[in-house]
Amino acid sequence: MKILKGKAHERLLVRVGSRHRSYAEIKGKMNSIQAGIAGEEKVLNYIRRLELPWPVLWDVSLEVTPGQYVQLDVLILLPSGAVIYEAKNMAGRLRFEEHPKRLDKVDEHGSITDRYDCPMLQLQDEIANLQVWFHLHGIPFRADGAVIMTGSAIIEKPPANGRIFSLREIRKHLAGRGKERGMSERELWELAAYIRRHNRPYIAFPLIGRFGIPAEEVEWAPLCEPCDGRLARKSERTWYCPACNWKTADPFARTLEDWFTLRSRTLVNRQVRELFGMKSPGAASRLLQFYPLKKEGKGRATCYVWDYTMPLTRRPY
Ligand SMILES: [Zn+2]
Repeated sequence: MKILKGKAHERLLVRVGSRHRSYAEIKGKMNSIQAGIAGEEKVLNYIRRLELPWPVLWDVSLEVTPGQYVQLDVLILLPSGAVIYEAKNMAGRLRFEEHPKRLDKVDEHGSITDRYDCPMLQLQDEIANLQVWFHLHGIPFRADGAVIMTGSAIIEKPPANGRIFSLREIRKHLAGRGKERGMSERELWELAAYIRRHNRPYIAFPLIGRFGIPAEEVEWAPLCEPCDGRLARKSERTWYCPACNWKTADPFARTLEDWFTLRSRTLVNRQVRELFGMKSPGAASRLLQFYPLKKEGKGRATCYVWDYTMPLTRRPY
């Protein structure tokens, strides 16, 4: 799912084109997601080197109340409770301000150049929500956590009473917490398996809705992989790019994936024909049989849905 997270924005940029009014906004969001992923990887890599005897989970997304999720970068289950590490991969000079709580980025003269939601508040919400989840599932376990700064940021003004660490402080934090008693190792691994079973990847797709972009402003046709030009159909089995001459037999998988991640949860036969310039409804439904899509509805109301947890690749003939 991690791949999908940053990739969908990248695909949307290609499909709206650099002149679109939302281009800069999409790109900014993509950069922050990618920085977030990089920060999470740094924390995980550091923790893996510690060779802890306890379960380490990442990218955990649990449904606390219907439709409301708690999303955790890194979650470690220690005997005395769960520890959440919220990674922040930031550079520059940072100031944690109190009223209202926020994080300001400042330049060398002290002028504010950017404002962010306070990561300490975000962490507090995550801890509270995880505790609610444990409670609702009848698990007597407490939750705690820290914000881990993984970038080169210099903190001019740290938060008044929040836990904020650099990567290297994780070892000490865990060593202290690890001595406290509570669940046995076996119980912890059972709990880890239980959490994994309840992990619901939360994906804010389709993406155009998030940016308020009407579907007509986006190119949905099959695109060339090397140059992003529009592909043309050469024969029954071959598509090619008039701009760079690239050829492919399967422009479908990627086009369908873009459709489901960017445009709509569902796809109907008519849309398949429009996407690939097909005339017959029969050919369109035969094409979809090669992809792991779920059918919903019957007859003319049939639509196809992609389960995001399965890769959208063509099945062998
Ligand atoms: Zn091309």
